[in-house]
Amino acid sequence: MNTYETIALIGVFIFIFFLIFKNRKSAQKEINNLNEIEYLGTSTMTFDDVAGNYEAKASLMELVDFIKNPEKYSRFNARMPKGILLYGAPGTGKTLMAKALAGEAGVPFYAVSGSDFVQVYAGLGAGRIRNLFKKAKKSGKSVIFIDEIDAIGKKRMAGNLRGSDESDRTLNALLTEMSGFAEDSGTVVVAATNRIDTLDRALLRPGRFDRQIEIMLPDRNARKDILGHYLNKRNAEEVNLDEIADLTIYFSGAMIENLINEAAIMAVRENSDKIKEEHIKSAYLEILAGREKNNYENKLQKTITSYHEAGHAFVSKYLLPENKIIRISVIPTSKGAGGYTLSTPGQEIMTKKNIKKHLSVLMAGRVAEEVFFGKENITAGAQNDIEKATSLAIDYITKYAMDGSTFINYEILSDKLRIPLTSVEASVKKLTEEIYESVVEIIEKNKDSVAIIAKTLLAKEVINQEELDKLLSKDH
Ligand code: ADP
Ligand code: ZN
Repeated sequence: MNTYETIALIGVFIFIFFLIFKNRKSAQKEINNLNEIEYLGTSTMTFDDVAGNYEAKASLMELVDFIKNPEKYSRFNARMPKGILLYGAPGTGKTLMAKALAGEAGVPFYAVSGSDFVQVYAGLGAGRIRNLFKKAKKSGKSVIFIDEIDAIGKKRMAGNLRGSDESDRTLNALLTEMSGFAEDSGTVVVAATNRIDTLDRALLRPGRFDRQIEIMLPDRNARKDILGHYLNKRNAEEVNLDEIADLTIYFSGAMIENLINEAAIMAVRENSDKIKEEHIKSAYLEILAGREKNNYENKLQKTITSYHEAGHAFVSKYLLPENKIIRISVIPTSKGAGGYTLSTPGQEIMTKKNIKKHLSVLMAGRVAEEVFFGKENITAGAQNDIEKATSLAIDYITKYAMDGSTFINYEILSDKLRIPLTSVEASVKKLTEEIYESVVEIIEKNKDSVAIIAKTLLAKEVINQEELDKLLSKDH
């Protein structure tokens, strides 16, 4: 072999080495990236940081003792759950609860999200699961948290439509690992999902996620607790918690936290020394309706919008007097609305009668435009109302079976019989037309009241709850 050949050979070796190395490096990089997502630490959260959901908390508190003293339970052969599934709407504090469990038990908290396992290289998902459990085992006791478990544990569809081998492998690895660790190891796996209905049944079997706990939107008391919790943490003056708790019906804990945060930002913006009630209320309006922008340039548009909003407000007062109208505005907002009528959603039961009333309120804006300005002058401002009314009317017919004397869920019907839902269209049309006509009648009959609201809006741009009541009582 001469020098030239030697050099060439070394060159080839270096090249091959480089290729192998490069491949290994990128694979290694991928694994590193994935490992970064895992978070290891001791949680300092406690159950005091979680407001509301008292039963769920009690159920988890029981597990604290189990994690701390697993021998106590194994002595009696008491089988404690290995897996706990927390399910419920986003932002209700599922992650928070899992952290609090780890915090109270004083053990490390490992967190991954099911969505991180989607579309990773073949075999990596399963590898990561094994890796996660290996790490957790090393630290002895721990809480392993898997958020968005539905991403790896989706129900297998009939006819094998699902077909992702990779998520199958990941799911199987998870189930194997879960059955592999000893019950008295002081490790629990907590998973969370917003959609328990889509989960593979295999996940819910005994020895897996056999304890399922629903985490609900906070009720009024819990909302007060959450509000108090986040206001105390910040610099706030005394506020009427009852009132804000009423306003925030259907808010999740995360939404309440965001509300108080926005209020704090407003207080800073205004150089205020404390967060005040008015900051919370402005933040509330901004979150629900969007930030109010510049005024209308076009007088006619503003006038029509005033009548549109007056229509909503009047019909709402007329048909659903128990609902509070907090504010009517004809100042365009950052969310693209030309104006809005904001009412606290009532807690009336969804009877057939009440759903029709809601549909009427949704239509009332457009109806007022038509009654006062003529059929040819209706505007696109009703777009959002039309969207909402359409889906409510479809639910009325297809899901709640409130039309005529059918007792049919049309979605299931069309799915099982594989037929299109053409008959529903006619029913939806008929229902909405009938209600529309009845709203025209209401507004025609009460033209004066609607006009007073509209004119006041045009002049003042904003009407609040008391002003509206005054306007309407004077009128009667
Ligand atoms: P989820 O996991 O259910 O989507 P998170 O636990 O991530 O919800 O909640 C997000 C944030 O919302 C929390 O960090 C906390 O600030 C707030 N939050 C939600 N629910 C509650 C609650 N019940 N008590 C106190 N804060 C809450
Ligand atoms: Zn409208």
